[in-house]
Amino acid sequence: MPVGDQKKKNRWLPLSLLATAFAGVGVVLFRGCWHRKMSWPVRSAGYCYQVCTGCGIKRLFDEELFRAYGPYSYDLDRLIAAKRDQQLTPKTIPEPDVSEHRTAS
Ligand SMILES: [Zn+2]
Repeated sequence: MPVGDQKKKNRWLPLSLLATAFAGVGVVLFRGCWHRKMSWPVRSAGYCYQVCTGCGIKRLFDEELFRAYGPYSYDLDRLIAAKRDQQLTPKTIPEPDVSEHRTAS
């Protein structure tokens, strides 16, 4: 039966599409928000990030590539820590040597 054979073949396409869709489900678990409306990138402590206008979750943002990257988190400190651990971008942000330059005021 050539017709039945063709049907069987076509079933793989929607299945693979579903698999791709499910990859983003973890993100949706946060208050059922898709984080589709992200704020304009905000700069803080040398890091650039976006905030979801729906639920307030944050995500790091690359100003040069002009796109968000890395995991979502409500805790910006956690995002920065994750970035430092994984070295998501080769750029190194110079860290001010605060302890050495503490002057007597
Ligand atoms: Zn959101």
